[in-house]
Amino acid sequence: MAEACLFCDIASGKLGGPLLYEDDQIVAFADIRPIAPTHILVVPKEHHKTLLDVSSEKDEPLLGRLLAVAGKLAREGLPNEAGCRIVINNGSAAGQTVYHLHIHLLSGRHFAWPPG
Ligand code: AMP
Ligand code: ZN
Repeated sequence: MAEACLFCDIASGKLGGPLLYEDDQIVAFADIRPIAPTHILVVPKEHHKTLLDVSSEKDEPLLGRLLAVAGKLAREGLPNEAGCRIVINNGSAAGQTVYHLHIHLLSGRHFAWPPG
């Protein structure tokens, strides 16, 4: 049996609150512990543990689509002047806690550089 995965369950509608976006490949939903006024997770329906898992040539369409959806949500959901930060935590040293690939779309406050 496949391992239980929180984001697979949210993407399939088994768990979680309302989806903010859905297409045939991708869903987006609010992060349960937001670290910014806008904190949306953009998640492929297909289970991949990390970015490195999918980063071969055949996965370029999926990776491009994830970024494009994050951009669309930012364009349509945020004021023009609001910047945003897009983050992928890849692996535990980078802060990844849920091992199903996802993009964090963050906005609504200042983001320091370099990141912590
Ligand atoms: P990461 O640390 O990059 O793996 O990000 C995982 C994110 O998932 C964190 O920001 C968590 O707050 C978020 N998260 C964990 N459980 C849920 C949930 N049930 N619904 C929405 N977001 C969640
Ligand atoms: Zn999964």
